[in-house]
Amino acid sequence: MQREIKQQIERLQAAGATYVDARWYPFEEANFLMMWNGNLKNTTSTRESGMGVRVLYKGAWGFSASSDLSSLNALFDKAFDNARIAAERVTFPIRLAEKDAIQAAFESPCKINPFEVPLAEKVAFLKEMDEKMNQAGVFQRRGDLTFMRKKIVFIDSEGSEIEKLITEVFATLEVSGVDEQGVTHERKFRLNKTADTRGWESIDRRIFSENAERIVKEMNEVLKAEPCPKEDRSVILLPGIMFLQTHETIGHALELDRILGYELAFAGGSFVTLDDFGSLRYGSEKLTARADATLPNTPGSFGFDDDGVPAQNNVLIDKGILVGAITGRQMVEEANAKARKQIFQGSGGTNRANAFYRVPIERMTNINIDPGSDGTLEDIIKNTEKGIIMDGDRSWSIGSNREQFHFATEIAWLVEDGQVKQVVKNPTYKGATVKFWNSLSAVGDQSTWQMQYVDNCGKGQPNQIMQLGHGVPVCRFDQVRIGE
Ligand SMILES: [Zn+2]
Repeated sequence: MQREIKQQIERLQAAGATYVDARWYPFEEANFLMMWNGNLKNTTSTRESGMGVRVLYKGAWGFSASSDLSSLNALFDKAFDNARIAAERVTFPIRLAEKDAIQAAFESPCKINPFEVPLAEKVAFLKEMDEKMNQAGVFQRRGDLTFMRKKIVFIDSEGSEIEKLITEVFATLEVSGVDEQGVTHERKFRLNKTADTRGWESIDRRIFSENAERIVKEMNEVLKAEPCPKEDRSVILLPGIMFLQTHETIGHALELDRILGYELAFAGGSFVTLDDFGSLRYGSEKLTARADATLPNTPGSFGFDDDGVPAQNNVLIDKGILVGAITGRQMVEEANAKARKQIFQGSGGTNRANAFYRVPIERMTNINIDPGSDGTLEDIIKNTEKGIIMDGDRSWSIGSNREQFHFATEIAWLVEDGQVKQVVKNPTYKGATVKFWNSLSAVGDQSTWQMQYVDNCGKGQPNQIMQLGHGVPVCRFDQVRIGE
């Protein structure tokens, strides 16, 4: 197949195409299981294969995709035809940032292929966890497992040839209960990075059992708790909510296509402008954020993006100052041209498509916060006079330009004079993005840092659901409005 693809690429180049690439998926499979109150409510398996072709002609993209590969001529011609038609209506001629031609392979670390594990074993795991969660106070129990495995062969007209084999595993346990006022409260555990590989072996019964017990205990504490007070406090965010704070108010805000207005019709824009790079004080000096696709074993590390650019570790916010964005080959050229200066040196290697039949767009990789020098969680608590510790995403609402936000969490513990006090229910906090990050007053050390997995980030039209990661420490923000 590789030889045929290269022949097609050469054929279109000879006909005038300036750039051509093909992403051939020999297979992509997915398996989802969900158990609800002891019953296997959902089990789905999908498998597909096909190829997507992009052609650049006179500054315009053409794309086509098919699962029928019996006529590569027709598939490549269709992409070229689409580019020719689009070239008649170009508003901003597309240019691609330079990159090296790479011949390489990437495989995500996986010991046991989850697609070779019998269904009965997966169901038995969910059943075992369901029984662990089936305790007093629990009204609903839910456990789910998601497995994905795909092979992608990328070939382009610049001499790149890259093969990727990627395996993903996601899993959640969740319990809910009803308090005296009839309000439902949930507590959940999501699989995060607990090992160096991510196959069936990451479904570790010991880790899941411990967390099943913990979420039942904490949910029952919430059911009996007093409401969260309405006032200003120091908010200490654990990784189970810190990842979402980072995702929504750093990650999405710094996608370069979004900054340039390409996501306005769907998820919104960004308060960040091209003039802000190098000068905007995004957060306090304690904040260093990065897009790091080089960390092993996370969904945000994939070896090479769908432009064929190698994974990178790029600083986005350096000691509080905005210095970088989430970028791909096309958008960096457009941003530099529109800003009339070289803001971006080249592609950040973040362009990804969620299927062979979608075009790659800029996606978060692992959008991380560096661990800090304010010690362990205990140290941070000890140094907090009037605070609240929050964990677990419950609801979120974010301005379409990511300029402000409101989050509710599953659980919170009040902190008074350096000591953890009672649990409170219905905890919420809100803020304005830049002011909030500037109130960052403590960043936990490596012991508080956790790599969280995200399996459901949505972006693009048609919508593309993407997998990624957030490595985040415990962080404390001062004078934050809570409880409303
Ligand atoms: Zn998202």
